[in-house]
Amino acid sequence: MPDTYDIIIIGGGIIGAAIACNLALKKYGRIAVVERDQFLGNWATAKCAGGIRAQFSSEINVRMSMLSEDKFESFAEEMGVEVQFDQVGYLFLLTSEKEVTGFEKQFEMWRRLGHPTEWLSPHDITKLAPALATDDILAGTFSRRDGIGDPHQFTQGYVTASRRLGVKYLLETEAVGIEVESEKIIGVKTDRGLLATEHVVNAAGPNARKVAAWVGLDLPVEPIKRQIVTTAPLDFIDDSFPMVVDVGSGLYTHKESGGLLLGWADKSTPAGYDESVDPDYTDAILMKGLERIPQLETAQIKTAWGGLYSVTPDHHAILGNGDRFAGLYHAAGFSGHGFMHAPAVGVVMAELICGEPTSIDISRLSFERFRTSPPVEESVVI
Ligand SMILES: Cc1cc2nc3c(=O)[nH]c(=O)nc-3n(C[C@H](O)[C@H](O)[C@H](O)COP(=O)(O)OP(=O)(O)OC[C@H]3O[C@@H](n4cnc5c(N)ncnc54)[C@H](O)[C@@H]3O)c2cc1C
Repeated sequence: MPDTYDIIIIGGGIIGAAIACNLALKKYGRIAVVERDQFLGNWATAKCAGGIRAQFSSEINVRMSMLSEDKFESFAEEMGVEVQFDQVGYLFLLTSEKEVTGFEKQFEMWRRLGHPTEWLSPHDITKLAPALATDDILAGTFSRRDGIGDPHQFTQGYVTASRRLGVKYLLETEAVGIEVESEKIIGVKTDRGLLATEHVVNAAGPNARKVAAWVGLDLPVEPIKRQIVTTAPLDFIDDSFPMVVDVGSGLYTHKESGGLLLGWADKSTPAGYDESVDPDYTDAILMKGLERIPQLETAQIKTAWGGLYSVTPDHHAILGNGDRFAGLYHAAGFSGHGFMHAPAVGVVMAELICGEPTSIDISRLSFERFRTSPPVEESVVI
């Protein structure tokens, strides 16, 4: 007889762990997370820059972030684990009239929804972060509720708390199929044998499309490489340096171990599983960094890495059922904001699976949207 669970989550990244933990808090029953790797949180989650912000262009993303920020703030107390949400703030730099007009609209929306954000002049920006070149800057937006967190710490936080509540993490166990009988899910096939269940969550990160394909569903989620560079400590960066996003160039940067972490999305990168470090990509990030922070000229490069975003056509996640199988749920396609949304995803997915009303209306994130409505793009994607 195969081992039997009330639900099996495929993928032990931060999303799988957050869903497992929230289901366990609701005493859902026997919960297993299957993870092909030897370690949890070792794929996209391990490559994450750690940014947490609610300054998005779409209301649903703002709402997801605001719920997440509540949870990040109360995480240590609620979960009984050591974590840090460093609320140094997110600063968006605007260098064209078009950006200013777009952000003015968003700024109103953020305030209406209750996300505290300030509109800054170039002078305010220099006071906040003197290392930035501000000659070409027209304005900026800043929220001190946003900040950075360590994805490893929060993933381990969910894992520790959920293990205490009885969740089983089956490591070095690769899901290879979903077993269906008479149009009903009856199990997950793994390289170690069949696990019986009627409920499955696809939290396979960059592999989410492959998992959905096992039941004939085409989930529009593409893996695309993004690169990051970090520097050795820099004497002009102090503890209050915020997360900075240069909207025009797409550069983002925040303090990291006394130096800076810098990232940028090369939009010409083709979809695929390549995560290798491309030196030209690294150079392009550094050039953009130098333009915004001239003192970087003296920086010593510490390390660089590549990792995979899971990108959907409208840069919004896919949450909920697909179609055909009532027992199959997807939590995928986070398009570069899966870490910051993980706490909200854990909450709403657990509510959905338990048949409760969700804390946030997530219909906008349903798979169905690709069939029924013209896409509404999230435009503040970095
Ligand atoms: C360079 C970079 C920077 C980023 N910066 C940020 C940021 O600043 N803020 C932010 O919010 N997000 C950021 N992200 C995005 C964020 O890292 C992801 O959205 C998030 O980690 C997704 O978590 P996940 O659990 O869905 O995926 P993953 O962490 O990839 O987890 C999926 C897991 O599923 C497992 N798996 C896959 N297939 C199978 C299978 N068949 N059987 C068993 N296990 C399987 C994998 O091994 C993996 O552990 C960044 C991503 C990258 C690459």
